[in-house]
Amino acid sequence: MKRVTLKDKTFELFIPYETLQTAIKELANRINNDYKDKQTPLFLGVLNGSFMFMSELMKEIEFNCEMSFVKLASYSGTTSLGRVSELIGLADNLQGRDIIVVEDIVDTGDSIEHLLRSLVGHEPASVEIATLLLKPDSYTKKIPVKYSAMSIPNDFIVGFGLDYNQLGRNLKNIYKIVDEK
Ligand code: 5GP
Ligand code: MG
Repeated sequence: MKRVTLKDKTFELFIPYETLQTAIKELANRINNDYKDKQTPLFLGVLNGSFMFMSELMKEIEFNCEMSFVKLASYSGTTSLGRVSELIGLADNLQGRDIIVVEDIVDTGDSIEHLLRSLVGHEPASVEIATLLLKPDSYTKKIPVKYSAMSIPNDFIVGFGLDYNQLGRNLKNIYKIVDEK
């Protein structure tokens, strides 16, 4: 599919699944290498957007690990509301753990900043961010994003877990919004 329409917006093919898959494999190799000597790291997926990236990434992870999910919503429509809601579902046995937060996309960084603030209180051994996509032109925080599979410009995208008003998460490829000028 070259174009998709979700509600009132049209999106065009931007990153095909095969490209995502290759980038995710490369990212998994780096994580495999960095974590192979650690004690049962914990992958913490941020719902809803990360579910597809998480499943693709975890199939390539070669060390014993645990997985869990948390929820943190900040988006409505195509622009950030500039606020983040509460963190739901965080387990309480995080002390001394090596945690890898799995995100769909890091945009302004508000979400990961909020999440890290909550995590640090649990005294984990380490926390790193693994994101499928990073928007470097929009990212304003000092927190290092150690693992990002791909960097993209500031266009609004959907697919592979990412939504427009809850639609489009199921799309296998990533699509970019078409400017109606
Ligand atoms: P941040 O807090 O870094 O500004 O935004 C993070 C969250 O905003 C992401 O986890 C994602 O849910 C949402 N987001 C940011 N950019 C996009 C985008 O281009 N498309 C979609 N669908 N969601 C986005
Ligand atoms: Mg998200």
